[in-house]
Amino acid sequence: MIDRLLARLQQIPDVDARGDEPLAPHTTYKVGGPARRFVVAHTLEALQATLTALRSVDEPTLLLGNGSNVLIADAGFPGTVLTLGRELSHCTLTRDALGAGVHQLEAGGGCSITRLLRLAKQESVAGVEFLGGVPATIGGAVRMNAGTREGEVKDALVTAQVVRPDVAPAWLDPTELGLAYRHSSLPAGAVVTAARFRVTDASLEMRERLDSVLAYRKATQPLHLPSCGSVFANPAGDSAGRLIDAAGLKGRKLGGAQVSEQHANWIVNVAGASASDVRSLIALCQAEVARQFGVTLRPEVQVIGDWGDWSDSEVTP
Ligand SMILES: Cc1cc2nc3c(=O)[nH]c(=O)nc-3n(C[C@H](O)[C@H](O)[C@H](O)COP(=O)(O)OP(=O)(O)OC[C@H]3O[C@@H](n4cnc5c(N)ncnc54)[C@H](O)[C@@H]3O)c2cc1C
Repeated sequence: MIDRLLARLQQIPDVDARGDEPLAPHTTYKVGGPARRFVVAHTLEALQATLTALRSVDEPTLLLGNGSNVLIADAGFPGTVLTLGRELSHCTLTRDALGAGVHQLEAGGGCSITRLLRLAKQESVAGVEFLGGVPATIGGAVRMNAGTREGEVKDALVTAQVVRPDVAPAWLDPTELGLAYRHSSLPAGAVVTAARFRVTDASLEMRERLDSVLAYRKATQPLHLPSCGSVFANPAGDSAGRLIDAAGLKGRKLGGAQVSEQHANWIVNVAGASASDVRSLIALCQAEVARQFGVTLRPEVQVIGDWGDWSDSEVTP
């Protein structure tokens, strides 16, 4: 069958579009089936034209950053996956842009946090080092208000550029983005194409902070195995990891997925896990923590794609 939408997307300048793309390599879990179409938009104009084309069909679209907070079904994604390329992955520093000694670090939505931090370190500016070790793109980090115990995106963000289908790009501040704990109120389909962060000259102490954030992660998190980081948001006043550990689930395996021995709020892919293995383990943690402590664990990871007639209630402890 001819894929007319794919053919139309392939005609847009500065767009790479292909069919039937395996998604596992595009996620940090390394699980999940193929996308019907996979599109990389390299410029703002290309992105706008892509969004307009996608709007004309009644099919789902998934905006993908670094795939570090998604669990994609084994059957894949039955629509178009969209990512940001070249010009939308820039990273620049403008000194004194926000006042004397207050600089602006701007990055495209597709730029990685790693690259942002590398530039900050090279230029000796501080204010974003709390994001050390978060394997996200800028767009995904803004969307999720990514953060650590040292801070979150909304603390350092000045403004983010948001593009929506058939609407002119707009710069929004953290309040307009509705940033809260691992959450934003960006409307579905809105794309963060750039973000500007406030940074200042780094004292040695601030540079040391980045090293200490990374060292803490290395000591406490199973970074050597594919994962999505923390699976659940911490319930108010408690820690999801503590609850899962107390429920006796640390180290519990289902197929190739395991509740990490090192950090109980991480489910790791230890041996060629399927997406269903991971999802079953998520459901098991939720069921056991609810049964034993009456607490509902809310997944932070986004469960995406074609899960057929999957039912979490079929997972038995
Ligand atoms: C080893 C590891 C450690 C982690 N540590 C942390 C941590 O300390 N703190 C933390 O908060 N998170 C952490 N995470 C989770 C993850 O990195 C964050 O949730 C991150 O914000 C996701 O960014 P991403 O680019 O990978 O987004 P994706 O996983 O690709 O997508 C996540 C969501 O953002 C949306 N999105 C992606 N790009 C854009 C865009 N340009 N515009 C609008 N929406 C977009 C997607 O549609 C999706 O809804 C960790 C993950 C791993 C694997």
